[in-house]
Amino acid sequence: DSYLNPNYTFDNFVEGDCNRLARAAGFAVASKPGVTSFNPLMIYGGVGLGKTHLVQAIGNFMKNKAGGKFVLYVSSEKFTSQFINAIKNNSLQDFMNFYMQIDILIIDDVQFLSGKEKTQETFFHIFNHLHQSGRQIVMTSDRPPRELEGVEDRLLSRFKWGLTADLQTPDLETRIAIIQKKVQAEGIQIAYEVIEYLAHSIDTNVRELEGVMISLLAQASLTRREIDLELAKTTLRHLVKDSEREVTVDTIIEAITEYYKVRTADLKGKSRLREIVLPRQVAMYLAKELTNLSLKSIGYHFGGRDHSTVIHAIQTVNDLMDTDKEISTAVAKLLKMFRK
Ligand code: ADP
Ligand code: MG
Repeated sequence: DSYLNPNYTFDNFVEGDCNRLARAAGFAVASKPGVTSFNPLMIYGGVGLGKTHLVQAIGNFMKNKAGGKFVLYVSSEKFTSQFINAIKNNSLQDFMNFYMQIDILIIDDVQFLSGKEKTQETFFHIFNHLHQSGRQIVMTSDRPPRELEGVEDRLLSRFKWGLTADLQTPDLETRIAIIQKKVQAEGIQIAYEVIEYLAHSIDTNVRELEGVMISLLAQASLTRREIDLELAKTTLRHLVKDSEREVTVDTIIEAITEYYKVRTADLKGKSRLREIVLPRQVAMYLAKELTNLSLKSIGYHFGGRDHSTVIHAIQTVNDLMDTDKEISTAVAKLLKMFRK
């Protein structure tokens, strides 16, 4: 068994600026394992950005090709526990022999090898053997090799022999494409405005995006409701409460409407009255301070304003805080409310 999950393929790995190099390198390696200079291939990036998916796609691609290559996917934790068991059972040589026959070794989350000296030493020998005999090694890590602490220098230097490529947080267009792909795979229909809303609201990582999608689908089928914008908003609100995630634009808008006694529709609307414009600008300022959202996404949540309007709002509030005591007090109060 190669421990590959057949659901992780190149076909359903959506390409975007955030992953283009890593994906291309992965595809090159999958097409010509051990042949390119991308050996080892090291993919790194934060949680839920697609590391496991991408390296499994490499494995699946190679496994499905003719030629009978021995592909193995293993997490670093599993590798470590297998190693410990081998020592306990006096079967270290079998363990080494097994790993030394692999044609393509995919080892996930190597940051877990940190501090495990004996495991690293063994991995070092396996690595050397495979590399010298032209076999392919693919690794992932949650950080770049230079930031891996507790990993021996001689191993680290080998990690840098081939190609290191990172996965970044997907941009808006990629998030939309990922949701669309998921929706397509489920064989359901969702209005574009819902997809856009989700993509603008969750910009942390793909796993989170998928989590929200799953809840949304579950909600829809449990309540036999259609997936519309309202259901998406409710689902998101509940999820945020459950997991005490960061502040969202919706909760900021709620606080602003109470504080300034304005309506949500006004904040998102076109009014140029000062008693509306100021709360709207403060709300955008808070959104920038308290969420990770891009200026573009903040603008989206305020009636589809463009990012230059958001920049202007933030600048205005910044200036006012220096000159206007009432505003600086208000902003401080609101910030404190969210940060406690
Ligand atoms: P990591 O290993 O970096 O923590 P995963 O590979 O487990 O992340 O990805 C988390 C989820 O997001 C998986 O279900 C994966 O299929 C999905 N995913 C991540 N990136 C993409 C992408 N570019 N296209 C499609 N799905 C993706
Ligand atoms: Mg992973």
